[in-house]
Amino acid sequence: MLKIEHLGIAVKDLEVSVPLFEKILNTTCYKTEIVASEGVNTAFFRTGDSKIELLESANPDSAIAKYLEKKGEGIHHIAFEVQDIYEEMKRLQSLGFELIHKEPKSGADNKMICFLHPKTTNGVLIELCQEIK
Ligand code: ZN
Repeated sequence: MLKIEHLGIAVKDLEVSVPLFEKILNTTCYKTEIVASEGVNTAFFRTGDSKIELLESANPDSAIAKYLEKKGEGIHHIAFEVQDIYEEMKRLQSLGFELIHKEPKSGADNKMICFLHPKTTNGVLIELCQEIK
């Protein structure tokens, strides 16, 4: 794992949370993006070498909608940048970790992504991401 690429935070309403995080981080949101495949609307902030990703549900059946219903707003996942997502997926799978998807998906902010199931990672939803070059 190269570094923590971003932290994902589940929010109910980007219109409320974007200005809130602009105040907290003292920087402006540099990008909003709809990830239709995941049913989420995202907003990104730079914090030094890492980022904060706000996630708002785009439809009532999305994973984020279910998460908000169960746990409320808060830290949703931690994303690590990797050099070769296929290699990392193979490595982690061989160690017994459960991958939520068997193939990398295209995520927000020009990334290939993959999630590890929290039941095998101490309850932490971990995202692997690799920049699409
Ligand atoms: Zn993420």
